Amino acid sequence: MADHDVVVVGGGGAGLRAAIAIAQTHPRLNVAIVSKVYPMRSHTASAEGGAAAVIATGDTQDEHAYDTISGSDWLADQDAVEAFVAEAPRELRTVEHWGCPWSRRSDGEIAVRAFGGMQKMRTWFAADKTGFHLLHTLFQTSLRYEQLTRYDEWYVTRLLVDENRVHGVVGIELATGRIEAVTGRAVVLCTGGCGRVYPFTTNGNIKTGDGMALAYLAGAPLKDMEFVQYHPTGLPFTGILITEAARAEGGWLLNKDGYRYLQDYDLGTPCPTPVLRSMELGPRDRLSQAFVHEQRKGRTVDTRYGPVVHLDLRHLGTAVIDSKLPFVRELCLRYERIDPVHELIPVRPVQHYMMGGVHTDLDGATGIPGLYAAGEVACVSINGANRLGSNSLPELLVFGRRAGLAAAEFASAAATRPGRAIETQVADERRRLERDLLARRDGRERIADIRTEMQHTIQDCAGIYRDSESLVAGADKLQQLRERFGKATIEDTCRTFNTELVAALELGFMLDVAETIVACALRREESRGAHQRTDFPDRDDARFLAHSLVVRDSSGLPRVDYLPVTLTRWPPGERIYGR
Ligand SMILES: Cc1cc2nc3c(=O)[nH]c(=O)nc-3n(C[C@H](O)[C@H](O)[C@H](O)COP(=O)(O)OP(=O)(O)OC[C@H]3O[C@@H](n4cnc5c(N)ncnc54)[C@H](O)[C@@H]3O)c2cc1C
Repeated sequence: MADHDVVVVGGGGAGLRAAIAIAQTHPRLNVAIVSKVYPMRSHTASAEGGAAAVIATGDTQDEHAYDTISGSDWLADQDAVEAFVAEAPRELRTVEHWGCPWSRRSDGEIAVRAFGGMQKMRTWFAADKTGFHLLHTLFQTSLRYEQLTRYDEWYVTRLLVDENRVHGVVGIELATGRIEAVTGRAVVLCTGGCGRVYPFTTNGNIKTGDGMALAYLAGAPLKDMEFVQYHPTGLPFTGILITEAARAEGGWLLNKDGYRYLQDYDLGTPCPTPVLRSMELGPRDRLSQAFVHEQRKGRTVDTRYGPVVHLDLRHLGTAVIDSKLPFVRELCLRYERIDPVHELIPVRPVQHYMMGGVHTDLDGATGIPGLYAAGEVACVSINGANRLGSNSLPELLVFGRRAGLAAAEFASAAATRPGRAIETQVADERRRLERDLLARRDGRERIADIRTEMQHTIQDCAGIYRDSESLVAGADKLQQLRERFGKATIEDTCRTFNTELVAALELGFMLDVAETIVACALRREESRGAHQRTDFPDRDDARFLAHSLVVRDSSGLPRVDYLPVTLTRWPPGERIYGR
């Protein structure tokens, strides 16, 4: 059993930022960073477009706050948003001092670009590989601190909780199959999102909602799980993201008639600034919904990978594409054999991000003392019903740092060490993994088949549009899949890099997360942001200006409750976007 002061689960942007914050402010604390992949392989590396923070003259933090709140369809907590916009510029400057190569203007100042739903240009970027550079910077900075011990390629299967306090985690060292506890007086979950619950997603294979399920199974509530973001421009078949930066630089969305169809919808940006008036820069929820309407009108293009519209960058020219969007060109050439300098890019909406996650306060504290969460796994909430693009990367930094500091304070003050009950839990977990999973050979069902059915079930009932009938059917189907999962086979009993075992553990977590998404979507009888109910098409502030909180009841089923939204200075209004 390895013992530390704080255990950070996750080596992506949020996890590394939390760990560095602890090392810098509490140098005596010993911190574990446990990650199921080598940290640089975390999903943060694939972020492309940029990170929002007010820096330009003529822009204000209040405007950034307003854009975020109205973009969230007034479901964001305004105290959280105010803290976020105030701290984001300092965080982006800090990573610049640590070496992040932000793109610059010709006069040497930090360059900013437009982004969807933002009234002003405030998105910092490092060409179109922002996340890669950001994660590299954080990773290299983390190497400076000897008190950070890494557990790379360790898969966390359970949180250790006793007497309503967290005491660490149990994990499998994937290279050997060794099952060990990594204990600590505080745990920070930074395990990212759960896009792989859906069949068509921009998310990497590892984004299976493990941390959301770990917290949920340990008794911590999840918040706003029904709010699932679709990004309007994914490549058909692979789901690879074509960043919003392509539209920010002036790209157009065209239907099958070559017509910029967004002019028919209330989707433009709320902005009087001419450079940002492009309707392609509307918020993601509305752009994805517009695609569905175009499809219903028969104005999308049919392909073997489903209906698409076209993203047109041809008028931008080679120089802009190669300097500002080189990765977009590379992805199109490599995965579609299309050169965007001369050809149209086929795109369709694709699951991209989870607004919901583990319920936390402004310092990342969850419902369980000692347990913190930050990054995409968490719901603070600054994103409400719809996240604005480029707010997530600064969120990792701002709230990763805050959660790290709070966990460090908690660990410094907490004296007790884990007792007998924790040893029993570790032994139980070891038995479960060895007996139920590594030795399970008799079932007939395959993990991959159940996973595929789960993904299609959730897409059909909790996609861009939902209704009561499909959600009820989806909840029933998920129950059946859970029963079948209990009898599924794992043929590989090898202990070295047993990817089938990991897939089974991930599927178990995804089934938990999927159930919470459906339960929350069914209870919310209104349409707001990314949650669109065809049977309840209007926003209903009287009943639902509130966060959903879902916990697991004694029979193992999700139970949904509500928590009022925190309003400070911006009363709920209409999301009216001019053209
Ligand atoms: C293609 C793409 C492009 C994006 N572009 C942008 C953008 O331009 N701007 C923006 O603001 N946002 C963007 N986003 C969103 C943003 O990148 C993510 O929300 C963010 O990077 C998530 O960071 P994280 O630290 O929370 O999690 P991640 O970076 O996903 O890291 C999760 C970590 O948790 C670990 N982990 C998970 N489960 C376990 C387990 N069971 N045991 C041990 N370790 C575990 C993983 O190993 C990993 O290290 C983009 C997202 C995608 C998918």
